[in-house]
Amino acid sequence: MTTSLDRDALLIGTTWQAPATDSVIEVISPHSEEVVARVPEGSTADIDAAVAAAREAFDHGPWPRMSPDERIEVVQKLSGLYAAKLDEMATVISTEMGSPISFSTLAQAPAPWMQIEAFLGIAREFPWEDVRPGVLGGEVMVRHEPVGVVAAIPPWNVPQFTVLSKVIPALLTGCTVVVKPAPETPLDTYLLADLLIEAGVPEGVVSIVAGGREVGEHLVRHPGIDKVAFTGSTAAGRKIGAICGEQLKRCSLELGGKSAAIVLDDADLTSVVEGMKFLGVMNSGQACVAQTRILVSRDRHDEVAEALAEGIGSMVVGDPLDPATEIGPMVAKRQQERVSSYIEIGQQEGARLLTGGTDRPDGLDTGWYVRPTVFAGVDNSMRIAREEIFGPVLSVIAYDDVDDAVRIANDSDYGLAGTVWTADRDAGLDVARRVRTGTYGVNTYTMDFAAPFGGFKASGVGREFGPEGLSQYTELKAVYLGESAAGAEG
Ligand code: NAD
Repeated sequence: MTTSLDRDALLIGTTWQAPATDSVIEVISPHSEEVVARVPEGSTADIDAAVAAAREAFDHGPWPRMSPDERIEVVQKLSGLYAAKLDEMATVISTEMGSPISFSTLAQAPAPWMQIEAFLGIAREFPWEDVRPGVLGGEVMVRHEPVGVVAAIPPWNVPQFTVLSKVIPALLTGCTVVVKPAPETPLDTYLLADLLIEAGVPEGVVSIVAGGREVGEHLVRHPGIDKVAFTGSTAAGRKIGAICGEQLKRCSLELGGKSAAIVLDDADLTSVVEGMKFLGVMNSGQACVAQTRILVSRDRHDEVAEALAEGIGSMVVGDPLDPATEIGPMVAKRQQERVSSYIEIGQQEGARLLTGGTDRPDGLDTGWYVRPTVFAGVDNSMRIAREEIFGPVLSVIAYDDVDDAVRIANDSDYGLAGTVWTADRDAGLDVARRVRTGTYGVNTYTMDFAAPFGGFKASGVGREFGPEGLSQYTELKAVYLGESAAGAEG
């Protein structure tokens, strides 16, 4: 049976081409467990063709040699086209990976478009060529030049978000790029590919070849690649970082998290519960920045844990395409099994299960669902507090005083995000300064595309967004100009 989402070509060198093999990815709905589309599975031969096209376009084509303003014009056109497709994009993402449509229409589709607009603003102000006085009497020009051919490897959980965070700065800086989407989420990138062609991105500049790990690793190792931009698990990030280190490739890694929400004693309970219903389990808990460790003083532990259990336990679990759904299925059966196994581990470790568990949610006979789950009385040494579960599972951990809360928050291999909840903004800011993470929020959390996003420790290397994120796609060149014209005349 064919569906309207089926495709039979790959985007290679910004043109549709027949794949090198007849291997197919079957995209399966995490809700119905039925095939929703079939698309070509990229092979190493397809990657070779994509890198060759990108190399040719970078070494000899017009794109890297255009002015920043000329590239901005093309990306501006893409932005307009993208804005008109947000509803379709949201539906495609919810269909392929099960994100609740409420989350897809709030974040999965519009946030990538906001990234395009933010990067356009940054590119307009960016110091592409900057002449500064040297210390030896002459002048020096500092140029930001494109880093070269980029391999962009995103995960499945926020697919467009993590593709555009790489493709847009790569385009604006004059790079060419080969994207290797996760095999769970190839469909959204077909919509993007149509828009890139329509926007007038020149031949050779962008390729999109979906496939598995082996194909991804072939791309990372490929001698035609100058930089790897990766978002995914810390385990894969270590492997990719090691290959890039060996080959001296530029590399940025956005990896996992185990973020802590510190609830100070003066925090408003309703705000904390409402905050965690979004920040703790957004995207059905499949979010790198999810606040999964809830740190509460011993005095308020039981009160906060019970309120959280009531709030999280009453969230609507169901069909991702139903607007009332708050928690959808996990992306795949293996992910459902993995999250359920952590719930069992938590019980074996002696944590108190307040809501949720491993039973199938009522009324859902198919689909890879997990009940939203809250554990209380968790110790930070337990596996459920140390390892990234990537599902709707929260752990409430007691602290003695604020210093102890900061110590527990920092006692993690990860350092991606975090929040503090308090009526006293200055006290919150004091905590924010002490927690070792790349991003933080006081009584809220968001990613603002004007600012850098990324991780400390095992959460990553490098930053996305802001001028800092654009810089990751450039090499710096210093051109010594000697005496300035004015200086020479004088
Ligand atoms: P994953 O590491 O299994 O896969 C991510 C991508 O890398 C996929 O496209 C996969 O095919 C590819 N891949 C895997 N191994 C590879 C290898 N050795 N060489 C080349 N490519 C390889 O991760 P996942 O399960 O798809 O995604 C979930 C993970 O992503 C979580 O750990 C989550 O925290 C992380 N994540 C991080 C951020 C961030 O910005 N820090 C954002 C979203 C997700």
